Amino acid sequence: MHQQVLTTCKRVVVKIGSSLVASSTGGLRLDRISRLADEFGELQTKNRQLVLVSSGAIVAGISHLGLKTYPQEVPLQQAAAAVGQSRLVRAYETAFEASGHKVAQILLTHQDLADRRRFLNARHTLTTLLQLGVIPIINENDTVAVDEIRFGDNDTLAGQIAHLVDADLLVILSDVNGLYEADPHLNPSAQLIPLVSSITKHIESLAGASRTQASRGGMVTKILAAKQAGRFGVPMLLLNGETPNALGQALEGNPSGTFFASNQSSLTNRKQWIAFTLRPKGEIMLDEGAVAALVMRGKSLLASGILNVNGTFLPGDPVSCTTKEGVAFAQGLTNYSAETLQRIKGKQTSEIQQLLGALEYEEVIHRDNLALTP
Ligand code: GLU
Repeated sequence: MHQQVLTTCKRVVVKIGSSLVASSTGGLRLDRISRLADEFGELQTKNRQLVLVSSGAIVAGISHLGLKTYPQEVPLQQAAAAVGQSRLVRAYETAFEASGHKVAQILLTHQDLADRRRFLNARHTLTTLLQLGVIPIINENDTVAVDEIRFGDNDTLAGQIAHLVDADLLVILSDVNGLYEADPHLNPSAQLIPLVSSITKHIESLAGASRTQASRGGMVTKILAAKQAGRFGVPMLLLNGETPNALGQALEGNPSGTFFASNQSSLTNRKQWIAFTLRPKGEIMLDEGAVAALVMRGKSLLASGILNVNGTFLPGDPVSCTTKEGVAFAQGLTNYSAETLQRIKGKQTSEIQQLLGALEYEEVIHRDNLALTP
C-alpha cells in the first residue's frame, strides 16, 4: 500500500537536514549538495514536483564567520543564518543549474502562515513556481524569527509546508537510517521499523534524544513532523540522505527508511489550518451539553455552554475548546475576547444582551470557524 503512495505521488516536500549539507568546521558540503541536486533534478524531469525545505544556513554561517562553536546567543545565530543563507542558496542554485533546473528562495516565519491572507499568498506563489517547473527552496526566516513567531526547527516547518502546498508526501532526509526499536548507537542489533501505521505512545517513546550538534530537533521533532503531516493527510518518509539516491529508490517503490502512514483527513484545507497551523491563545472549557452539540451535531459554540475561560485573547484569535476534564477536542476562532467571555460565560442570549448592551454575535465560535481535532 505505501509502495503505491511512493510510486504514484506527484508533489513531494523534501526536508534536508543541516548535517547533510553543512558542517560547522568545513562549511557547506558542496559535493553533497551537488549529488542531491543531480538526484532531485532527475526526479523533477520524471514529472515529480519537488519543494525543498533546507536547513544549513546557521551552520554554513558559523564556519564562514570563523566562529568556533554553535552560538548560544540568538542574535549571533541570526547573524550566522543571514551570512549562511545566501551561501546555501547560491550552492543549490549552482548545483541545480548544472542540470538545467531553476530554483527560488522562500523564507517564512510561523506568523506568515498564521495569517490566512499571507498563507494563501504563499500558497499561490509556491503553486505558480511549481507550474513554472521551478524548485522552491524554503527555510525559516531565522534573522527575524523571535520565539513566538518561529517554527523552531525545520522538521516542524516542513510539516506545515506539506499542508501549504497540498503535498502527496513529506520526506525527511537526515543522517539517520530511520526509526529503530532501540537506540542503534547503544544497541547495534536494534531493528529498523520500516512502517509506522499510527503514532502511538510507544512510537513516541522510541524517539529518545538523538540530537546531533548540527540538527536542532533529533528524532523527537521528526516524529512530531510525521504526526503533523499525518493530521493534514500527508504521509511521511524518513530516509538517510547520506545514502546515494535514497529518495530516487524510495519513489521507485524500494524505500530504505521508515514510512509513517497518514490519517484520512475529512477537514477542509481552511479547517485544517485552524486546527493544526494556528497556535491557540487560550482555552474555553465547555459543559457536557455543549461538547455533545459541537461533536455530535456540528453546532456552533454558544456562551451558555461555557464553564471557564483561560488565557488572554481578542476577537478573531484561535482558541482551544476542552471538556470539563481538560481534554482539548476542537480549535476555533473566537468572536469574543477572553475578558468579555468571562462576563458572559454560562449566560443565555437575553442576559448577554442586557449585560453587553447589544448582541454582536449569537455564537462565541461559529461552526464555520470551528474544527474538531483528533
Ligand atoms: N533554519 C536553520 C538553519 O537553516 C535550521 C533549523 C533546523 O535545522 O531545524 O540553519
